[in-house]
Amino acid sequence: MFESLQERLSGVFDRLTRRGALSEEDVSVALREVRVALLEADVALPVVKDFVAAVKEKAVGQEVLRSVTPGQQVVKIVHDELVAMLGGVAEDEGAQAGQPFELRGLGLNLNVTPPAPILMVGLQGSGKTTTTAKIAKRLAEREKKKVLMASLDVRRPAAQEQLALLGIQAGIATLPIVPGETPVKIAKRALQTGALEGYDVVMLDTAGRLAIDEALMAEVAAVRDATKPSETLLVADAMTGQDAVNVATAFKDKVGLSGIVLTRVDGDARGGAALSMRAVTGCPIKLLGTGEQIDKLETFHADRIAGRILG
Ligand code: GDP
Repeated sequence: MFESLQERLSGVFDRLTRRGALSEEDVSVALREVRVALLEADVALPVVKDFVAAVKEKAVGQEVLRSVTPGQQVVKIVHDELVAMLGGVAEDEGAQAGQPFELRGLGLNLNVTPPAPILMVGLQGSGKTTTTAKIAKRLAEREKKKVLMASLDVRRPAAQEQLALLGIQAGIATLPIVPGETPVKIAKRALQTGALEGYDVVMLDTAGRLAIDEALMAEVAAVRDATKPSETLLVADAMTGQDAVNVATAFKDKVGLSGIVLTRVDGDARGGAALSMRAVTGCPIKLLGTGEQIDKLETFHADRIAGRILG
């Protein structure tokens, strides 16, 4: 992800930093190129407009243009605005405690009377079931949580078996399958089992559809009402660009979201979804899916992503 955007921007900033003095016009020309690069990366137009305006306002200040290294100052402003657009630098308890990055937790809210219900929502094929197992494994291994997974997908044949198989591979318990139950019934049984058997977390993998529809939203909302999740995570495919942003908006409005997991960031997505998601929906991107394998899950850090884009 971000390869072509990174290439485009590094060209613009190379030219800018090579010059000694900068005029307002130089900054305007560079920002026009940044604007085109962001639009080509499929970033939503209002987000691009706000971003360029914010950079311009800060960059044409007299102190920046009169400084010894105006080009570098402008790049720094772009970096800081990118971080802000991506949600800012989150408070990271692990970082504050000086823990190495690899050992830190996922930062999900499990701060409720156990078991903490985590509701996984999204379109079919977005990577929901895989991500459910990835998160469960991580919580079990790094955060030493006892995790139970349950598939609420009663429509797609073999969806429940798929999760059970992933559970076996990952060493995570799954709720025994009882044919004929409704999603709400399965969810309630999962929470009851979780409470009785001392689980810390119950992950609920809901059914997806190929596109947003009323029935899907009503089903997910009913499960939400029955389970009061501590996290409702949308799994969205980064490769689908602006569509992923529209899906996030629909889920946010109809179901409510506490966070977004962006999958397939290992692919050649242009990055527009990652860059627009937070600004358009107001929901934080919390995690990234970086491959098919079960351990390919990363926490999202705005400053790391901004650093990757700006090289
Ligand atoms: P669901 O229908 O939303 O539950 O989607 P699945 O979890 O079944 O995933 C659909 C496909 O996407 C599977 O082949 C997964 O292995 C693959 N997949 C999921 N997450 C990622 C990811 O982060 N990167 C890549 N490359 N593939 C992924």
